[in-house]
Amino acid sequence: MPTALITGANRGLGYEFTRQLRERGWRVHACCRLPDRARALKALAAETEDAAGEVLRHRLDVTNGLQLAALGRELADESIDLLINNAGIFGPRGGFGKIAYEDWLQVFNVNTLAPMHVAETFAPHLARAEWPKLVNISSRLGSIAENERSGAHIYRSSKAALNMVTKCLSIDLKERGIVVAALNPGWVSTDMGGKDAPTSARDSVAGLLGVIDGLGEEDCGGFYSYDGTSLPW
Ligand code: NDP
Repeated sequence: MPTALITGANRGLGYEFTRQLRERGWRVHACCRLPDRARALKALAAETEDAAGEVLRHRLDVTNGLQLAALGRELADESIDLLINNAGIFGPRGGFGKIAYEDWLQVFNVNTLAPMHVAETFAPHLARAEWPKLVNISSRLGSIAENERSGAHIYRSSKAALNMVTKCLSIDLKERGIVVAALNPGWVSTDMGGKDAPTSARDSVAGLLGVIDGLGEEDCGGFYSYDGTSLPW
C-alpha cells in the first residue's frame, strides 16, 4: 500500500489530502498538533466500511524538534512514498508601516524552517520508497516574479524562502531519487483562504494530487500550480 505523511492534517487542505489519499487506497500518516481534538480526522481514521486506505494519527507540532525526532524514530521502519509539507500559517497581514516584527520569526519557523526540518527527518524514510516525492505547499504569494501589489510581507517572504528551501532540497535529495517540488494550491476556501475564495479544498487537492502523480525526475526543483501550470520563482 503506498504511504504518505502529511503535516497539518486536521483541517483545510491537509485534511482533504488525507481524505482523498485514503479514498485512493493509501496509508496516510496524518500529523497534527492535537490529534485527540481533531474530530474530523478521528472520524476518518475510524471509518472502516470500505476497505480503501488507512489513516494513522500522530501528534506533531512541526516547530517542535523533539516531537519530530520522536516521530522519525517511531516510523523508523517505514517507507514513505509521499511527504506533504502542508502545515502553514498566514500571520499578520499588515504591510508597509504596519509590520508586526514580533510575529515574523514565528511565521518563518512554521512556514520555512519546519518544512526543512521535516524533510531532513523523513529523507531516510522517503529514500526507501521506489518513486519517492516530497512536496512543499507554497503559494503564488511567494513568487517574487508575480508580486505586483506588495502587502502580506511576512507571509510572502516566508513562502519565497520556502521556495528556495525547495530548490535546495531538490538538489540535496536528487542522489537518493527523491523528486522535490513546490506547489501552489490556488486561493482556496479554508480557514486561511476564507469564504470568498473561488476554489474548494476538494478541487484544489484533486488538482494537486494530479500534479503530484505526474511529477517526474525532470520536474524536480520546480514550482507548480494545482492546475498543472508552472509558476515563476
Ligand atoms: P488552514 O489555516 O485551514 O490550516 C492550516 C493547518 O496548518 C492546520 O492544520 C494547522 O493546525 C496547521 N498548523 C499550523 N501551525 C502548525 C504547527 N506549528 N504544527 C503543525 N501544524 C500546524 O490553512 P490551509 O489548509 O488553507 O493551508 C494549508 C497550506 O496551504 C499552508 O501551507 C498555506 O500557506 C498554503 N496555502 C493556502 C492557500 C489558501 O488559499 N487556503 C493559498 C496558498 C497557500 P492547527 O489546527 O493545530 O492550527
